[in-house]
Formats: sequence, structure tokens, C-alpha cells
Amino acid sequence: MNQAIPKVGFVSLGCPKASVDSEHILTRLRAEGYLISSTYQDSDLVVVNTCGFIDSAVEESLDAIGEALAENGKVIVTGCLGAKGDVVKQAHPKVLAVTGPHAADEVMDAVHQHLPKPHDPYADLVPPQGVRLTPQHYAYLKISEGCNHRCTFCIIPSLRGDLVSRPVGEVMDEAETLVESGVKELLVISQDTSAYGVDVKYRTGFWGGRPLKTRMTELVAALGKLVGPDGEKVWVRLHYVYPYPHVDEVIPLMAQGNLLPYLDIPFQHANARILKLMKRPASSENVLARINKWREICPELVLRSTFIVGFPGETEEEFEELLDFIEEAQLDRVGAFIYSPVEGAVANELPDPVPPEVQEERLARLMWLQEEISEEKLKRRIGQTLTVLVDEVDDEGAIARSYADAPEIDGQVYINDGQHLNVGDRVKVRITDSDTHDLWGELV
Ligand code: SF4
Repeated sequence: MNQAIPKVGFVSLGCPKASVDSEHILTRLRAEGYLISSTYQDSDLVVVNTCGFIDSAVEESLDAIGEALAENGKVIVTGCLGAKGDVVKQAHPKVLAVTGPHAADEVMDAVHQHLPKPHDPYADLVPPQGVRLTPQHYAYLKISEGCNHRCTFCIIPSLRGDLVSRPVGEVMDEAETLVESGVKELLVISQDTSAYGVDVKYRTGFWGGRPLKTRMTELVAALGKLVGPDGEKVWVRLHYVYPYPHVDEVIPLMAQGNLLPYLDIPFQHANARILKLMKRPASSENVLARINKWREICPELVLRSTFIVGFPGETEEEFEELLDFIEEAQLDRVGAFIYSPVEGAVANELPDPVPPEVQEERLARLMWLQEEISEEKLKRRIGQTLTVLVDEVDDEGAIARSYADAPEIDGQVYINDGQHLNVGDRVKVRITDSDTHDLWGELV
């Protein structure tokens, strides 16, 4: 009987925001009765969700489209690369349709056109939480699309448009359904989490019959109260928080245990001139003072940030100012990237590009400094007892994460005696060892 049911292959590239778009499309496909196939050969048609953020991502996306065309032949393209004019059509004229990001309706229209809907949608029921690409125990919760900033190195606003916040009641409903289905950690994402609600003037929405403001602090406070079927509060982790002043409001919620004391806040640089060229908020003294204040209120706060090195015109002194900031700020997790000119970004027009060998050397120096800081900070964890969430279990033990570690980008906690645990368990571990990024421990 399954032979009559049309099958769609799905390739999902890019960031967690693109993954959420993929999940929405997959959920719609399954809801309409399509089967999702894991091989090109077995699929009647393939959807490729692309990334167009930097040149290497463009290449990866174009390669993936080429592979899908060669292996299957019927390909629909969606995602950020799809928003970049004719790039896809020029490289691969045989694709059936191209849409931009966040375009589930258009993708479904294209699927219907080239692979008609199955007749019996009841054959494949969709779980109420939809189809997810993450494991059962954690999920990304996208609260808005687009961005009102115009950072000069970034083309996301031109790809995804200005900020559009999802209605607060809809976000809460989705979160509640996820938590009821066994999700123990919600990762709040967007292009700019702290701007949530700016576009609707922080309109008051409703959830569960009660008024709730479309605003980051109110939203995350409500999320932090959700309780899973095991009776435990869900972990709520905040990503991509632009350093607006009102970010200070969420720190007390962290200190009270309503949110994970973890903040992913991209500072990008510390030198005022470079920050101005980047069109980012420009005062590293203020940032350091704020960090100190946050730590006073919530001493266990873990900070993750990202930085760009070798931005056009960055002098050795300006780079050293960034190193001094890193030294002083003692951030827990740092991602650093060499500036790369993304097609269409305003920063490409800036004078004095930094030679690639100098960029490489600066990246190495920054990462070397941060590794020292990280190693030292993790050493201080030895002897502490941490609650961790188990991600993987095998014969050698379990791999888990504490509040200090976001999935995929941060470190891990290895539990040597965790062979009998299950994925999604929340357990207490005493830390016995550490290295530059990870911790080791035993069950308490
Ligand atoms: S805030 Fe983020 S998404 Fe928005 S323009 Fe800046 S880097 Fe791009």
C-alpha cells in the first residue's frame, strides 16, 4: 500500500532557524500524508533547504542541489540561498521551483504541483508536536523572523526581511505542546531574540485565557514556568540575544531559577571604531560593567559570545583591545570567525581589508587566549555537582550537557558510569576532571 504514497526526500542545511523552517515543511508534508524518504533513489521528489549566509555555505548549498538533481532529478529549493535572486537558477536551471526562507506555503504549492497529494491523509498521522529534526528531549523554539538591524557584515535582513514576531500565544502553545511531548529543554532562537515584539509595539496577546505581552522578558518568564510530564520545570535557554539594555531584566529570572543562567549574546568586537563600522552598539566599558553587574546578581551565569576578527580596517591596536576585553570579560564560551566578505554586505565596500595571513594569525591568538580562559574556568568545576541532561548513551558511558552547554556548539559532560542511563534523563553528576572544552564526572 505504501507504494502508492508519494515520497519526499529532504535535505536541510544551515542554522537552527533554517532547521525550524525544515521542521514546519516536514510537518506539513506528513500532515498531508506524504512519506519522508531518507534516500534520493527512494524519493519521488527532493526538497533542499539551503543556507546563503557566507560564500562557503552558498557553495555547499549549490553542491547539495547538484547532488540531488544528479541522484533524483526532481528538486525544489527553499531557504536563504533561494532569496538570492537567480543564483540557484543560473547554476542549476533544471530545479523545479525556488523559494526564499520561511516559505512553507510556497514550498507546499510547488510540491503539490509536481507530486500530487496522496488520497489518504489518514494513513500517516502526525504527532501533535509536529515533525522535529532535534532529538526527543530538546527543541528549538523560533519566536520571530527577520531583523531590524543592519550590521554591515550581515545580509540576513536582505534575505529574511525586517523583524516579524510570532504571536505570543502561538509561541506559548507550541512550547507547551513540545513540553507535553517530552521536550525537557527549549532553545529560544530568532535573528534577534531581545527585539521580540518591537514590530508589534509589544502588543498584549493571550495565552491560556490570560493577557501576555509580546516581549522577551514576559515571554521567557512564562516559558520558564512550563512543567513537563515528569513534574520538572523545562530548561529554557536564550540564544542570539542582541545586547539591548533591557536584557538586564532577564538576569534576575536566571538568578531565581526560572531560566537557565546562560546567555548567548554576540558582542562581535570590543573596539568602538570597529563596532561603529559594524553598526553594532559601541561601548566595551559599558559591556564590562554590565557583565560584572549580571554576575553580581547571578553568579553562576554562563556567557557565550561570538567575535569577528580581521574586519576591514582593523589595526593591530584595535585587535589588541579586543584581546584585552576577552581577558577581562572572562567569557565562558567564545566563537570567533575571520571576517569574510559576504556578497551583498555593506562592509565589503570598506577600505583597508586585512590580509588573510594576518586574519588567520589574529584568529589563532584570540582562540589561544580563550582556550586558556576556558580551561581555567572548567578546572574550577571539579568537585561541583551539576544537573545534566543526557544526549547519548553507549557502552562507554553517557554524554550529557549541563546548563552551561548548548547542544552542538558548547562542551559536553562525559559520565563514565552512565551506561544504564537513557537519552533525555536528567541526573546529578559530580565533576572529576576537565580539559579545554569538556568535563568528566560520575553519578551522584
Ligand atoms: S542583528 Fe544579527 S541578523 Fe540582524 S543584521 Fe545584525 S548580525 Fe544580521
